[in-house]
Amino acid sequence: MAESVDRVDIAIIGAGPVGMTLALALAGGPYKVLLIDSRRRGAWAADPRALALSHGTRQILEHLGAWNAEAATAIETIHVSQRGGFGRTLLMARDYDIPALGYVMRYRELAAALDAQLDSSRLLNDSPLIDLRSSREGTAIRLASGADTRRFAARLVVHAEGTPGNDVEITVRDYRQHAVVAEVRPAGGHAHRAWERFTPDGPLALLPLAQDYSVVFSVPPDQATQLLQIDDDGFLAALHARFGGRVRFTAAGPRARFPLALRIRQQLTATRQVWIGNAAQSLHPVSGQGFNLGLRDAWELAQTLLASAGEDPGDDAILATYARGRQFDRGGSMAFTDGLVRIFSNDLAPLRFARGLGLLTLDLLPPLRHFVARRMIWGARAWP
Ligand SMILES: Cc1cc2nc3c(=O)[nH]c(=O)nc-3n(C[C@H](O)[C@H](O)[C@H](O)COP(=O)(O)OP(=O)(O)OC[C@H]3O[C@@H](n4cnc5c(N)ncnc54)[C@H](O)[C@@H]3O)c2cc1C
Repeated sequence: MAESVDRVDIAIIGAGPVGMTLALALAGGPYKVLLIDSRRRGAWAADPRALALSHGTRQILEHLGAWNAEAATAIETIHVSQRGGFGRTLLMARDYDIPALGYVMRYRELAAALDAQLDSSRLLNDSPLIDLRSSREGTAIRLASGADTRRFAARLVVHAEGTPGNDVEITVRDYRQHAVVAEVRPAGGHAHRAWERFTPDGPLALLPLAQDYSVVFSVPPDQATQLLQIDDDGFLAALHARFGGRVRFTAAGPRARFPLALRIRQQLTATRQVWIGNAAQSLHPVSGQGFNLGLRDAWELAQTLLASAGEDPGDDAILATYARGRQFDRGGSMAFTDGLVRIFSNDLAPLRFARGLGLLTLDLLPPLRHFVARRMIWGARAWP
């Protein structure tokens, strides 16, 4: 007997924070939406990352009823400096008439808040994709579901399955850095200050999180291995050495690592398909842009689709409108993070001097400093 085929308007593949944001932004609209994930529901509970969320991201999450205020720690100032060189700059929320430049939240707490708002009947977990075929008429999706397979027909497939592997559509720049993440306890509290410190090995970020700092330590892969193998005292000593005594730490939690590369999908759309979030672009975590950009992808796609209610959501013209609208924000965020990594991750004396001048200029020239701060707060809306 032939397997039955369930019909939906929009299938979102990947129930990570970006896929869930899109599902929520489309809820209540005219489309029948299905959100699919290969993992069990709540698998994100094991994720060790914390994310810096911009003020603009908070506003969108609030609108969706998914802002987890109790899990958010405000960033009131950001201190930017380089190891072994002069110059530093300070960004302050009070200069922008907002309560915080951004917020820090654990990935798992962000995911839990989004998940709590989902309509469970529109969510399919534990269902790895077996096959996807798209044509002008529609897309055919085959999923594994336990020992069985299930088939769906969708008018539009949204790819939100996170960082892609190597594929001809993806341009990859391997940074030869891995991020080692951990939560560490500062002596004397954090006073809601985040630190971004550039070192020749890679950037080091300290993000205030509850009573602690979330550390994102970007280093070459062999150093990442060492940082995972040493004991807590050794890890704290490595942190102190790179941080130059500005902050003292008293305890460290478990550590984990993530390889870092820039992965860019050249075409955001194909016949009845569109890519958003990390599936469209995976960035270096420096300056915390990745999820904020992915959330704006999800939000803008939902607005484009809702504005075309009554039309075919997989229509080429609608997808082209979306892709055109994302060019500026996407290009700016990729250039901003990639530029920071490339300019700062080396130890050439002339560049060190130029970077010091850059940081000093940033501090002395308010318009330039305001541009950088607005990029952290709003993303593409940084431009006046
Ligand atoms: C160390 C580190 C620190 C970071 N810090 C920040 C920060 O401070 N601020 C910030 O904005 N961003 C930050 N990022 C980036 C941020 O984590 C990502 O941009 C964000 O997680 C992307 O969300 P996503 O939903 O697109 O993908 P993911 O979070 O990867 O979720 C993808 C989902 O798709 C599912 N999936 C995968 N394959 C399939 C499949 N074949 N079929 C069905 N489902 C599938 C997965 O199970 C998962 O649930 C950081 C990243 C790292 C590594």
